[in-house]
Amino acid sequence: MKKIIVANWKMNGSIGFMNTFIPAIAPILTKTSNQIIICPPFPYFSSLTTALKGTKAQLGAQNCHTDPQGAFTGEVSAPMLADLGCQAVIVGHSERRILFEESDDLVKAKAAAIHAAGMTAIICIGENLTTRKSGHAIDSVILQLQASLPPSTTSQNTLIAYEPIWAIGTGLTASLQEITEMHHALHQTTKIPIPLLYGGSVTDQNAKDILSLPHVDGVLVGGASLKAEAFCKIVSAS
Ligand code: PEP
Repeated sequence: MKKIIVANWKMNGSIGFMNTFIPAIAPILTKTSNQIIICPPFPYFSSLTTALKGTKAQLGAQNCHTDPQGAFTGEVSAPMLADLGCQAVIVGHSERRILFEESDDLVKAKAAAIHAAGMTAIICIGENLTTRKSGHAIDSVILQLQASLPPSTTSQNTLIAYEPIWAIGTGLTASLQEITEMHHALHQTTKIPIPLLYGGSVTDQNAKDILSLPHVDGVLVGGASLKAEAFCKIVSAS
């Protein structure tokens, strides 16, 4: 079955990096039947769009503002991203929730702006280690999800990424059982079939097992999405 693979480059990359990385992954992006969304930093949108021509990969972004335009120095709006050919935007990533103090309400407003601009919102949710250890991970993630989904949400314009904070960039992956339990609870909660992704130290070693779990429709990949060989293996893991 077709899976969704989202690459989150975070604040990484350069023209030099793309000159070697994109030719290395282009063949797999041309023949895969999976849906691939690559989210580079904004300055590389144009080069990446050119480099991805002829492949099936889509362009995604890592953030946007809630308003369509205005006096918001340094910000980028959803309609601007759509104008550049962007098809999906990550919102509510834990790095933005923690480092930039983004609340559920702000995540919800950004997701609504993304929908209004005709793009897909990739809404990230996930518990911290204290919550996981307390045994309340599922309850807390469900509440976060309910508070982050705008009324404009449909199964066509939204992807939900479950990303336990303690597994992001740490090399610690949630166990297959933890992922299964959480995705089952999310599936029950959403009622409409919104695709569910897992993120948190996904590698070419664990992608196949994770992607074969029930209610795992794809993966959101950070670190491994910047390594050509590993990323190619993840794209072809399902
Ligand atoms: C992420 O950026 O959302 C992420 C899951 O990163 P990593 O794969 O490096 O843990």
